[in-house]
Parts: sequence; C-alpha cells; structure tokens
Amino acid sequence: MHDVIVIGGGPAGSTAATLLTRKGFSVLLLERERFPRFQIGESLLPYNNDLFDRLGVSEQLRQGEFQPKYGATFVTGDGRVGYDFCFERTLPPEYHRSFQVKRAQFDDLLLRNAKATGVDVREETSVTAVSIDQQDRAAVQTANGERHEARFVIDASGHGAIVGSRIGDKSDVATLKKIAIFAHYTGVRRAKGREAGNTVIVVLRNAWFWLIPVGEDVMSVGLVVDRDHFVASGL
Ligand SMILES: Cc1cc2nc3c(=O)[nH]c(=O)nc-3n(C[C@H](O)[C@H](O)[C@H](O)COP(=O)(O)OP(=O)(O)OC[C@H]3O[C@@H](n4cnc5c(N)ncnc54)[C@H](O)[C@@H]3O)c2cc1C
Repeated sequence: MHDVIVIGGGPAGSTAATLLTRKGFSVLLLERERFPRFQIGESLLPYNNDLFDRLGVSEQLRQGEFQPKYGATFVTGDGRVGYDFCFERTLPPEYHRSFQVKRAQFDDLLLRNAKATGVDVREETSVTAVSIDQQDRAAVQTANGERHEARFVIDASGHGAIVGSRIGDKSDVATLKKIAIFAHYTGVRRAKGREAGNTVIVVLRNAWFWLIPVGEDVMSVGLVVDRDHFVASGL
C-alpha cells in the first residue's frame, strides 16, 4: 500500500508526486498515455520559475529547446491598437523570462524528473474506477486489471476529472463555456529579437486567438470563442 496514488502525469500530477516523494511519502503515479504525448497549453508565466527551482528542472529548461518568453503582445482584430507587455517592466529580475513549451517535451521532462526523484511512475495505465468509501484508504482500478490502495488519492487527470465524474461532484463553471480550436503551423511571421518569443493575443468582439511560438519555426495558433456564439455561427 502506497501513501499516495496520483492519477495523471501532466504538470499537476508530476509536480505533486515529486514534491510528496521528496517529503518522504511513497507515491504511485498512474498515467494513461505513454509520454511524450501531445497536450495543449503551451505558454508559461514567470511565477512558475519558483516552482521549477523547487522541482530542480530550471537548468534543464534553460538548456532545452524551449523558446524563451519575455512578454506578451496584445492587438485588436483590425491590427490598429497594439500593446507590448514586457515582464522586465514590472517584475523583479528572476521573473524577466518565462518559456513557451511544446507540452510533449515539457510534460515528459517533468515526468522523468518525478521518476528520477523516486516516484513509481506507470505509463499506459488508465484508471477506470476510484473508491473512497473507506475511512483510512482509497482504492483505484486500472484498465489492465490492477488494483492499488493508498491512504490518499490525488486526481490530476485534467479534463478527465475521474474522481469528480465518477463520484458525481463535477460541475461546469457557467461563465467559462468556451470552445478552442487550435493547430501548429510553420512559416508564420513573427517579431524579431526578444519579442520573437512573445505570446500574441488578438482580441476580437466575441472571441480571441493566440499565437504562441513553440519552436524555431512552429507557431501554435488557437481561437477561443463562446460556445453559444460558435453554435450560432453554424460552423
Ligand atoms: C485550449 C487551451 C489552451 C490553454 N493554454 C494554456 C497556456 O497557454 N498556458 C497555460 O499555462 N495553460 C494553458 N491551458 C491550461 C493547461 O493546458 C492546463 O492547465 C494544464 O494542462 C493542466 O495540467 P494538468 O496536469 O492538471 O492536466 P493535464 O495536462 O490534462 O494532464 C492530465 C493527465 O492525466 C492523464 N489521465 C487522464 N485521465 C486518466 C485516467 N483515467 N487514468 C490515468 N491517467 C489519466 C492524461 O493522459 C494526462 O496526461 C490551456 C488549456 C486549454 C484547454
């Protein structure tokens, strides 16, 4: 029996598992996919830097293939109004630089770090059921027929929200009914110099879209729109 079972090996799961293992708890992490795997959510913010120091991955991030990010650029849809936000204008020096990341590589780095710390990481292991009926222990069932027990379970399954959906506590945030459509493109024009790493946010009337440079020549482009507006558009 482990102290903690973590469901999901994304940034939340691998971070919780690493920090708990460092505190001396025995942690089993169950991840459905084999990493590296695609994930969206590629633009980091400077205050993550403290966490990367705690996890011990800051040097690997700096030396890896991740795009440094020094700020963000906001523009209106017609291109008329623009504003550059540079972290160095308002934040202390340790927060002047963040990163744009391909999540496949970034999440893999964090999961390998968890493994190196001593977390028992099992990939391609999908949790299918969670039982929290007993006072002193929780149990999980996996698709490959395993059953594991622990004193605590952390649900870090992201959108899967396995505990919330199986136990019935999951609810939507009414004001956040959005749809996102995204893809990676090459050959997209970008700014020069330090601003080449900026996230560009284009603000439209009922929607907004992002341009996030996630590599030398790869641009993540995504549109975020209210679900009702999207449905009404008939697309
Ligand atoms: C369109 C969009 C754009 C975004 N853009 C940004 C951004 O620019 N910057 C930013 O910081 N954030 C962004 N986010 C948010 C970001 O993606 C999430 O906050 C982040 O991925 C959450 O990490 P997590 O570890 O909680 O979950 P996830 O990254 O979703 O990881 C969950 C893991 O759990 C695993 N899993 C799921 N179910 C099971 C199961 N039953 N058994 C075992 N494993 C399971 C999955 O395979 C996955 O690896 C964006 C989100 C969306 C939807």
